[in-house]
Amino acid sequence: MTHVAIVGGGYAGMAAAVTLAARRIPVTVFEAARQLGGRARRIDYRDVALDNGLHVLIGAYAETLRLIEFVNPAYASALLRTPLEWNVQNEFHLRAARLPAPLHLLVGLARSDGLSIAEKFSAARFLALLRARGYALPRDISVEALLVQHAQSERLRRVLWRPLCVAALNTPPAIASAQVFLNVLRDSLDATRAASDLVLSRVDLSALFPEPAAAYVQQQGSAVLLSHRVTAIDPLGDGFEIEANSERIRFTHVICAISPHQVNAFLIGITALSEIAAAIEMLRYQPIHSVWLQYPAPVALPAPMLGLTNGLIHWAFDREALCAQRGLIGAVISAAGEHQDLTQDELGLRVHRELQQHVSGLPEPLWTRVIAEKRATFACTPNITRPSQVTPLKNFYLAGDYTTSDYPATIESAVRSGIACAQHLMRHG
Ligand SMILES: Cc1cc2nc3c(=O)[nH]c(=O)nc-3n(C[C@H](O)[C@H](O)[C@H](O)COP(=O)(O)OP(=O)(O)OC[C@H]3O[C@@H](n4cnc5c(N)ncnc54)[C@H](O)[C@@H]3O)c2cc1C
Repeated sequence: MTHVAIVGGGYAGMAAAVTLAARRIPVTVFEAARQLGGRARRIDYRDVALDNGLHVLIGAYAETLRLIEFVNPAYASALLRTPLEWNVQNEFHLRAARLPAPLHLLVGLARSDGLSIAEKFSAARFLALLRARGYALPRDISVEALLVQHAQSERLRRVLWRPLCVAALNTPPAIASAQVFLNVLRDSLDATRAASDLVLSRVDLSALFPEPAAAYVQQQGSAVLLSHRVTAIDPLGDGFEIEANSERIRFTHVICAISPHQVNAFLIGITALSEIAAAIEMLRYQPIHSVWLQYPAPVALPAPMLGLTNGLIHWAFDREALCAQRGLIGAVISAAGEHQDLTQDELGLRVHRELQQHVSGLPEPLWTRVIAEKRATFACTPNITRPSQVTPLKNFYLAGDYTTSDYPATIESAVRSGIACAQHLMRHG
């Protein structure tokens, strides 16, 4: 009888688990940590629920939003959904108009503050040209090279394209894949108006999806095992033997949903998977630093999510406005940079000083906490090879944000990969 082992309880693993459990296919999820969510998980610190990373979803995350709605009874109140608003403090402000796509964006651009008429025209012409070419490039190049080719001014690059590229791909434009960037523009800015909506979580990221997903999977009679680190996956006859916490259990199928820098520990040594292991070995990574600041009194940012360009901070999140967490601000610093040379205390202080420039009367914080994810996402550079979810080893699948997808490493690519594994298994398993 089919029994599927899902190794890893991040968004990819839990998407696979929900999809299979909904068809009454028994699964066991093994998660090494004490809580679910992986890179998008809650971290409890001094009785405050922080997130490992501050995350932004968009309306184009169709599968993520569908699954959250499917398992989370508090779906409506768990998300704040707003029309696209691009707010770069003191430099640029664009709000999508209430019109069908792509007019919502073109009119929003025409009405935006901070660009000359010539720059607005240049950005609109760039988008129109990409659209006419079906957002496809004859060969992949860097985002920066594409912007230069299309004569996008330095200001346009600074306030619009670079922040968009770093937010979407977590890779600096000088080395980021222009084709993946165009895929994101196509599906977010040029689909429906709703696809470009910004969607922010009002609850921590474990409570948003992985925990309600686990409750659903358990209701269907399947198991979700926390603090269960898998130490071996051994192909055996038609199936597999999984070792976790010194116990060995047999399964018919395995969906391996762990992050790319950890997965090769299981793939190396299985001849059928050696090519995939070699491709994964070639991946490079980009960091994200999340800096949390707890203030003794309420603090209001000019917007719940505020873009900044003149310092280290890329985005600041007002957790009081979003999650009713009094006096809590989260700041995001994407990709590599000089901030990596600072100690955690120095970085916390630098971020606080930068915030002081934008929020008058900001008191000294009670504490700061830096969460540095050295391998937050793979570096989304031109022409990288991403492994397929279906592998040459029968009944062995790979799920995760690094597997083949139109999208960069995001929650949506993770969720879609999990669903793809489950669907293939249901069709062929
Ligand atoms: C700081 C930060 C900010 C981000 N911001 C955004 C954003 O704004 N928008 C967006 O869409 N994406 C964002 N991302 C990317 C997003 O978080 C990831 O793409 C997504 O969470 C990846 O999910 P996953 O399931 O593929 O992998 P993971 O989340 O890495 O899950 C893998 C799981 O496997 C478990 N595991 C590992 N080894 C074992 C083992 N041997 N046995 C059992 N379990 C094991 C791990 O504990 C983990 O829970 C961000 C990421 C970071 C780090």
